[in-house]
Amino acid sequence: MPTARFDALRGDLEGAYRALLAEAAPDLDPGPGPLRVRGFPGVPGHVRRASGPGWALVGDAGYFKDPLTAHGITDALRDAELLARALLGSTERTRDAALRDYQHTRDRLSADLAALTERIASYRWDLAELRELLPALSAAMRPEVEALRALDHPTDRAA
Ligand SMILES: Cc1cc2nc3c(=O)[nH]c(=O)nc-3n(C[C@H](O)[C@H](O)[C@H](O)COP(=O)(O)OP(=O)(O)OC[C@H]3O[C@@H](n4cnc5c(N)ncnc54)[C@H](O)[C@@H]3O)c2cc1C
Repeated sequence: MPTARFDALRGDLEGAYRALLAEAAPDLDPGPGPLRVRGFPGVPGHVRRASGPGWALVGDAGYFKDPLTAHGITDALRDAELLARALLGSTERTRDAALRDYQHTRDRLSADLAALTERIASYRWDLAELRELLPALSAAMRPEVEALRALDHPTDRAA
């Protein structure tokens, strides 16, 4: 739900959950209470600089997007792998360039996904637009899937 609606309901999370479930899926029965419901109001996404002298960021620390599109775990593992490879594949002399490459790759693979996630998480769409946003989200994941696949098949990367 939109954050504003969540804010209005957050005093009674269980009641809100039951009401929303009844609204969205009237045939589903959550069973008798009490339920353990935890709320997440959402926060705006952000992208941070990926590294500096003696530090580097991976996952949500460097690039956070609303969990609604359920892709943060992939991105966190992706960043960890890309950063590890950047560090292991560089020398002290080439490290800065390797870290810049890491950030460039992270940003290239994240930008479309982040923008679409922000749009979907805003809830400022109607169903007609959502029907376009979801395939676009799927398409935005493709370059990342290819990049991850290429990690295990380095010859594909050149293709
Ligand atoms: C409600 C919700 C639902 C989600 N659903 C999905 C989903 O379905 N699919 C999906 O892919 N992603 C989902 N995500 C997103 C996903 O959980 C995150 O993107 C992912 O966990 C990020 O991994 P991370 O390792 O970067 O950060 P985290 O998993 O946040 O790990 C960071 C860790 O560092 C610890 N830490 C923080 N500060 C310090 C410190 N100073 N010293 C020591 N430790 C510290 C924290 O306690 C935490 O354990 C969801 C997120 C939320 C909030």
